[in-house]
Amino acid sequence: VAALTVVTLTSCSGTARGGSDSGATSIPKGSTIGVALPAKTSQNWVLAKAAFESSLKKAGFKADVQYAAATNTVPDQQNQISGMVTKGDKAIIIAAQDGSQLGTQVKQAKAAGIPVIAWDRNITGTKNVDYYVAFNNFKVGQLQGQALLDGLKKLKGNGPYNVELFAGSPDDANAPVFFNGAMDVLQPKIDDGTLKVVSGQTKFTQVSTQGWLAQNAQTRMSNLLQSNYSGSTKLDGVLSPNDTLGRAILQATKSAGKPNPVVTGQDSETASIPLIMNGTQYSTIYKNTDVEAQAAVDLVTTLSKGDKPKTVLDKKNNYNGVKTVPAIELTPVLVTKDNAVKAYSNNPTLEALAKAGQ
Ligand code: BGC
Repeated sequence: VAALTVVTLTSCSGTARGGSDSGATSIPKGSTIGVALPAKTSQNWVLAKAAFESSLKKAGFKADVQYAAATNTVPDQQNQISGMVTKGDKAIIIAAQDGSQLGTQVKQAKAAGIPVIAWDRNITGTKNVDYYVAFNNFKVGQLQGQALLDGLKKLKGNGPYNVELFAGSPDDANAPVFFNGAMDVLQPKIDDGTLKVVSGQTKFTQVSTQGWLAQNAQTRMSNLLQSNYSGSTKLDGVLSPNDTLGRAILQATKSAGKPNPVVTGQDSETASIPLIMNGTQYSTIYKNTDVEAQAAVDLVTTLSKGDKPKTVLDKKNNYNGVKTVPAIELTPVLVTKDNAVKAYSNNPTLEALAKAGQ
């Protein structure tokens, strides 16, 4: 399974047991593990519930999985995590709605000796997060940046190319990491004139998409088209941080009657795979949610045995403003029409969609 490859292992930090300062973590078999998920802004979060319920059950634990509500998301998630501490869940896995707003809750968990595992999204500004399980987010961004360049070369002839940039939500610690990874590849091509960002908007603060909401990306794309691409100026490509926003961007270009630009994505959403196979969306990233949930559950199992998990200290990806959180880092896979069937060979649903579009 390609997505399972874990990067080089180093020893983990002093907080190996992850629990209270006073002693070893206690996670008896059969105990309840809390899983706090954000609002369902993309399909990966929808898939996460079943993934956790099944892997926790298989590992001999009970699952307490909760989503932040669609609105009022942050206080909702804060209450849910406090509730998990009060109920006595033995470990808490958190995919943060807003990674900077959980300091109080993870402190409560720490005081109660409950290990806190940030999942997919890091929790920032606190020392009280013990582990982070995620894909290599900087690498995700680099793959997106490279895919944009490759797609332009393949589909739009020789450059220079006119492009626009989009990033995810500023309250998600992943969003700037994805963007920085992409800019690591794209900035040199902007500097040498291969890429022209016609709007001039290249800073994270200018290109981010509040709440990862499709509507916000669609509106921004429509406005950009109106202000910068009204005459003969063609839009060749768009860096999109995920599939949901990629489809919104494509919707905006379609509504404006513009030719289909090269658009990147992420998540391998079932709604995007047909678009990739028919050439509407150029690329996506495969981050297998089952594998990612399993990695967190394996970590809980390791802790429950009193063993020391193997983690990496990767500052570029996992520094939370206070510490580099010891991490289990999984490898993302770039998917285009060319490798889709092979890339999804461990996932019958996605593989079938890829085959149907061939
Ligand atoms: C996840 C992405 C997802 C995005 C929006 C990010 O934190 O890593 O997979 O597309 O949130 O929900």
